[in-house]
Amino acid sequence: MQKKIPFNRPTFIGGEVDNVIDATKRGSLGGNGHYTKKCQQWITQHMGGGRTFLTTSCTSALEMAAILMDIKYGDEVIVPSYTYVSTINAFLLRGATLVYVDVDPGTMNIDHKLIAAAITQKTRAIVVVHYAGVACEMDSITTLARDSGVYIVEDAAQALTSKYHSRSLGSIGDIGCFSFHETKNFTSGGQGGAISINNEELLARAEVVYDNGTNRMQFLRGLVDYYHWEDIGSNFFMSEVQAAYLWAQLDKSSIIQEQRSKLWRRYRKSLRPLAEQRAITLPLIPDDCEHNAHIFFFKCLSAEQRNAFIAHMDLGGVVVCAHFVPLHSRPIGLMSGRFVGQDRFTTADSQCLVRLPLHYSMSVEEQNVVIEKCWTFFKKR
Ligand SMILES: *Cc1c(COP(=O)(O)O)cnc(C)c1O
Repeated sequence: MQKKIPFNRPTFIGGEVDNVIDATKRGSLGGNGHYTKKCQQWITQHMGGGRTFLTTSCTSALEMAAILMDIKYGDEVIVPSYTYVSTINAFLLRGATLVYVDVDPGTMNIDHKLIAAAITQKTRAIVVVHYAGVACEMDSITTLARDSGVYIVEDAAQALTSKYHSRSLGSIGDIGCFSFHETKNFTSGGQGGAISINNEELLARAEVVYDNGTNRMQFLRGLVDYYHWEDIGSNFFMSEVQAAYLWAQLDKSSIIQEQRSKLWRRYRKSLRPLAEQRAITLPLIPDDCEHNAHIFFFKCLSAEQRNAFIAHMDLGGVVVCAHFVPLHSRPIGLMSGRFVGQDRFTTADSQCLVRLPLHYSMSVEEQNVVIEKCWTFFKKR
């Protein structure tokens, strides 16, 4: 059987394994070592934001964010329903109620115009998801959050190196969370994440919450005689082995980004005629937003057509994928919150959306096959 063109291959730039060997020779692997510091510094410098901690995943970064913001039972958190479960589980674990808001169909990001109507006395945070690495409307969301006295968390799992009006995504809200899962642009060997804490007030507890609720990091710096349990927390540390793996990729980030952007632009150029014939809808990139080519998606005209397209591509040896199933469509999703306003686009558009293969090691030959098979499907209609 011929091998299929995969949807994703984890990024591998060369140098990862050498770094891992070097890390093991340094004699300390538990985290917060040589490579962790290099990665944290890189992220902080690139973002111009707050202080960065590497974490075991973006999921755990979001969990740490919910603890730092002191989210409690009955607090309300505004989220898009079109996202991954970890965006909201982190807040449910602290007893919050979810308030879902519809997406903008152009970007599939939370529709900033609908957020004000969802704010109540109980609202504590707005959690935005920069879908496909394309920025949400952060200016108006920031103004709204400031006027209402609520926090902003950026789920920037997909958005490291993306920009909104020249500012890095993940550095604009009070907290930004990133993922280094194998499906993202950069990976720390399969799992991993980071949190950027941009609000000074939230930084006070960060070191303690990060380290099982102890002041061990102060102890290691010689600031206290012994370390104690001070607060709730968890073991959020990324291991040095993973940080060493990640460093190889952050250090060569522009090479990885250039390759992904090239593929992304080539998809758009090749499929644009189909969009002009109104056979498909291409994503919208708002003005002054620089994105990191994390996902190339488009929308079919109906759910049936989208499913037929996925089957057609599979038969042709190309793996293409749908994406998030709206959270409020699941029993647990409705039990945990409410949808404010009308669901005009979240459900309908998520059922028409499909993502094409896009990864660092994808060859032009592979991409040509994908494009050609897209054309044969839509041309015969
Ligand atoms: C990948 C992803 C996550 C989860 O990241 P992990 O590192 O796997 O925990 C969360 N939110 C969004 C939007 C994602 O795409």
